[in-house]
Amino acid sequence: MAFRLATKDDRAVLVSGEGIYDLERHGSGRFSPDAMDAIARHRELHEVYAGLPAVADGPYDVEALGICVPRPQKIFAIGLNYRAHAEESGMEIPPNPLVFCKFANCLAGATSDIVVYGPTTDWEAELVLVMGSRARDIPAGEAWDHIAGLTCGQDVSERATQFASKPPHFDLGKSFDTFGPIGPCVVSPDQLEDPSNLHLTCDVNGERRQDTRTDDLIFGIPELVSYISSICTFEPGDLIFTGTPSGVGFGSGTFLQPGDVVTTTIEGLGTMTNHCVAKPG
Ligand code: ZN
Repeated sequence: MAFRLATKDDRAVLVSGEGIYDLERHGSGRFSPDAMDAIARHRELHEVYAGLPAVADGPYDVEALGICVPRPQKIFAIGLNYRAHAEESGMEIPPNPLVFCKFANCLAGATSDIVVYGPTTDWEAELVLVMGSRARDIPAGEAWDHIAGLTCGQDVSERATQFASKPPHFDLGKSFDTFGPIGPCVVSPDQLEDPSNLHLTCDVNGERRQDTRTDDLIFGIPELVSYISSICTFEPGDLIFTGTPSGVGFGSGTFLQPGDVVTTTIEGLGTMTNHCVAKPG
């Protein structure tokens, strides 16, 4: 009982071992090729996954995968959710979750290029929650029942744009095209020994920049789901970027340049490798 869901050529695929399986083909006619449909019916995926044959449709090649959640209705992100990161940012720890939004145009795949739009483009490795049901007013104790899975994310941020207005308005500086790589797969929480305590790292050009465990979040996963759902109804596929630990470029004045390689790894979820490229033209 568990699943790993990805997309390839705009079709939902299940990832098992070293192979991928087309969901529509293996779903006994119950699933369309649309990954959003699969996320909405994530409870049924466990059974399909358990019944996959030994021989896959094709090899697992992370570079061939698309965006694992291609069309979320909403993308929330949390600022200053690790204590040391709040300190390096010179900002006070917020009394409630600091929630902002990223727009869906920023989504990219696990090996997509990150376009460097400005001189203060920064990395932020994050655990991303993929909501699995239409729900609001979710009690913290029931939050995990509404989560389809987890994935890796980068909340790439152009700092000058993020702080261009006063008071700052984070959304646009974090929503340039390609500023939201996620993936490689949506991993169901039951695949993980402890989904609320995962090792998360971010390397830039092979140098370790961020290294934490996700149990160090100030507002944990149940609290975030409960808080946001007291305001907005979640839809299946909605994403929550849960915040980044210390070690972003902002602290040391080091930012991403074309040619840099950002590697984001979360225990049990996989690795994203994103190359930075210059703005076209
Ligand atoms: Zn962030």
